[in-house]
Amino acid sequence: MDKKIETTDYKIGSVLSEIIRPKIPIIFLLVVLCFAFFLLGFLTFFTAIFFIVIFTVVLLAMSSDDRKALEFYKNQEELKFKDISEGLNKLKTIIEAIKEPTILINENDVILIFNQSADKTFFSSIARDSLLSSENEIPTGLRIQTIIRSTLLLETLNLYKNSQKNSIEKIEIILPGEIDRSYEVDISRVPNFSKDEFNYLLMFRETTEVKKILTLRSEFIANASHELKTPISVIKGIAETLEKYGDEDKETSKDFLKKLIDQSNRAQLLIEDLLSLNQAEMRQHILPENKVNLTAVLDNIFDGLNELAKKNKINLTRDIRKKDFYILGDEDDIRRAFINLIENAIKYNTSGKKVIIHLSDNSDTVLFKVTDDGPGISNIHIPRLTERFYRVDLDSSIKKGGTGLGLSIVKNIITRHKAQLDIESEVGKGSSFSIIFNKA
Ligand code: ADP
Repeated sequence: MDKKIETTDYKIGSVLSEIIRPKIPIIFLLVVLCFAFFLLGFLTFFTAIFFIVIFTVVLLAMSSDDRKALEFYKNQEELKFKDISEGLNKLKTIIEAIKEPTILINENDVILIFNQSADKTFFSSIARDSLLSSENEIPTGLRIQTIIRSTLLLETLNLYKNSQKNSIEKIEIILPGEIDRSYEVDISRVPNFSKDEFNYLLMFRETTEVKKILTLRSEFIANASHELKTPISVIKGIAETLEKYGDEDKETSKDFLKKLIDQSNRAQLLIEDLLSLNQAEMRQHILPENKVNLTAVLDNIFDGLNELAKKNKINLTRDIRKKDFYILGDEDDIRRAFINLIENAIKYNTSGKKVIIHLSDNSDTVLFKVTDDGPGISNIHIPRLTERFYRVDLDSSIKKGGTGLGLSIVKNIITRHKAQLDIESEVGKGSSFSIIFNKA
């Protein structure tokens, strides 16, 4: 992948021709002069020949000095060439050890060396087909701007080259594509091994993910604050009204107090769900290792859920095909996920309808499925249901005590358990939410 360095071809023939060629006109002039003097009678034939021989010997003696000088020059060039190759090879070894994409360019922005990470990040998609030769070597003279199309990078490079700065210059660039990718780039000066010029080392750190997380975090904070603002401002309004007029009308006061309790419940639910979501996200990377019996988890929560079903006039039944279903998991997490899915099936269903909880297995997996014959969900909403605060119908969610976080919590729990969530739904016919676990 290193750029090949070209050097002069120092063959002996070419060295001699380099020495003799400049002397040919002088020798030719001498021969003509001696011949003219001989013709004019100033010199005898032998004296003319004598002068030509002496003069040629002197010239050859001088040529031997020239040859020494040329050989010295040649040695110096060869040493320099060796130095450059060795220097670049050493640099390449160092650059290869850097995890981030790293590229070395010269004063003219020509790429000299780059590491595997840069190869994968920048060269494989853009250049491999059109620019790289069959041996995967970069063609001589390939410039950085052909590979990384960023005006900011080029402008900064030019400014940096002209400033005599030795510190590292940091910039952030965005490379447009199917997904825009952002990189922090460190530009630093590296001495050139041959001349008084410099090479420039470009180190790229991808910041796309970090930026996405920061955006998501600020969106989350904005959404959470917005969700909490409503119940809290209602609570504040009611409390102020009660403070002023509470003594005047006992019936109205009672109504207000009921609203006060409703709104505090809503705020409390929201805070509880936010805490659950936070916990689920924090533990997402810790693989749960306890043996959990899913039948036992369901037995444990069934009575409480049946109470809610009865209140909503829903017929809640179980279709459990075996005594025990074991998986490796976190019991609290699984309980939380089951409750969220079953509660949704009950609360979004219409009274008089039914919800079935199903547990079965095959050789590798255990299937948990909640089916309802409620209103169903249109296809356009299904891919977004697990987003935080996403609701199909905001009013109905709030009326039913929803926070918009339930399925998002379920999704995090499922990711942690390396399980799979499937949602099937048809408007007017009902929905089914399934979790496929790997068996313990
Ligand atoms: P919420 O707290 O609002 O219930 P979820 O994240 O649990 O939030 O659910 C997101 C949305 O998905 C709900 O607001 C509701 O519109 C819809 N939904 C979830 N489960 C069902 C279901 N079984 N039937 C119909 N709609 C549902």
